[in-house]
Amino acid sequence: MKVLKFGGTSVGTPQRMCDVARLVTAGSERKIIVLSAMSGTTNVLIEISSLLYNGDSKGALSAIAALHGKYKGHVDSLYRSEESKEKVNAYISEQFDYLRSFTKDVFTPHEEKVVVSFGELLSTFMFVTLLEEMGHTPVMLRALDFMRTDTHGEPDVDYISSKLIHLLDAHGDSPLFVTQGFICRNAYGEVDNLKRGGSDYTASLIGAACGAEEIQIWTDIDGMHDNDPRVVDETAPVRNLHFDEAAELAYFGAKILHPTCILPAKHANIPVRLLNTMQPEAEGTLISNRTERHKIKAVAAKDNITAIRIKSSRMLLAHGFLRKVFEIFESYRTPIDMICTSEVGVSLTVDDTSSLDEIVADLQRYGAVTVNRDMCIVCVVGDLDWRNVGFEAAAMDAMRDIPTRMISFGGSDCNISFLIREEDKARTLRALSANLFNHTVKF
Ligand code: ADP
Ligand code: ASP
Ligand code: MG
Repeated sequence: MKVLKFGGTSVGTPQRMCDVARLVTAGSERKIIVLSAMSGTTNVLIEISSLLYNGDSKGALSAIAALHGKYKGHVDSLYRSEESKEKVNAYISEQFDYLRSFTKDVFTPHEEKVVVSFGELLSTFMFVTLLEEMGHTPVMLRALDFMRTDTHGEPDVDYISSKLIHLLDAHGDSPLFVTQGFICRNAYGEVDNLKRGGSDYTASLIGAACGAEEIQIWTDIDGMHDNDPRVVDETAPVRNLHFDEAAELAYFGAKILHPTCILPAKHANIPVRLLNTMQPEAEGTLISNRTERHKIKAVAAKDNITAIRIKSSRMLLAHGFLRKVFEIFESYRTPIDMICTSEVGVSLTVDDTSSLDEIVADLQRYGAVTVNRDMCIVCVVGDLDWRNVGFEAAAMDAMRDIPTRMISFGGSDCNISFLIREEDKARTLRALSANLFNHTVKF
């Protein structure tokens, strides 16, 4: 069994949906197809929800009418037969009537979950009908029947696995299953979802639950490159990545693979392949538990980083200082990304600055605080096991002319990160790629 997930852009137009239908019906292996909503739909459903929260039923009704009109247009160009058009139009009208019914009453967060679930319900119904029109017999697996979160909001892996296996067994000879990404039920049986971009997570959970041979994440983005193609002229596609390398990079390119997607597949030891719908024959990037020795895979950058330094003579020989610093960030629910310490101070970075003023005020109780904004993390990912020598020196050498605010190495076996000014990003990426990808290291 293979699990294939197609994102919003891959099913964003009738033409794209037909391309995906052809792609998934080629070959005879068993497949579970996980679909996102057609691109833009989830955003519009969220906008409709905010209009409903504001009691603007007129605005909501006109946004609903516009979206309904768009879907009618899709139906018109997607299907050949009148029978398919009628069937899908009837389903779509039913969903949109339901959506309109929310304008009559006070709107609640629970209802918002129901509203945003429509995107995936529509795309999968349209897709299954398309496959049927093409002469196939797909089985619709309803995500709301088997995807469930527990009381902590985490996927209930045992429940998902036993329900899913039961459903697959009930259709033992079916080669093709279709299901909704993103949507699920919570521990109380209410409609819920796995947060924005959650369809990747669905695919990973399904792959792990049924012991799939491979999980494929299809998008229209041109795979994973060793560097940012906008900055570095010659970039090469990355063929293989370790799950840990992918986890480091997910922070920099969440649009390629959603970070939550990595863990279920890694633990179940199921490879994840990133593929491009625009170039279906390309090999893509394979993410697995295998490390490619002595290789640097990629250099990635993230802007809009803020660095905070707390310098305190009291830190000298004291214990509990770091705990106090971390507690302040925790109390404002602000994640820390990079951290470096010395005996007299600690520097760390955040990308969420919504509580920065409060955090700085609290930190000032423990020492002198300095803040640097408009910084950029540049991260080198590859086989950076500390027992190897060479890559650290080559990376440092590349940074020789670039003012570097922080350097972090040793947090994992596959990463070195540098904190620099945003204005130095392009030259840093160029210097690191020149030194690392063309560099031969002797072991
Ligand atoms: P695609 O293949 O186009 O990436 P997805 O279904 O993965 O399709 O993404 C659909 C939409 O969800 C996109 O518009 C994207 O902007 C949004 N999205 C994806 N990941 C995230 C995320 N981590 N946070 C917020 N939005 C996201
Ligand atoms: N449709 C949802 C979103 O736009 C989930 C997804 O596409 O992954 O966030
Ligand atoms: Mg995505």
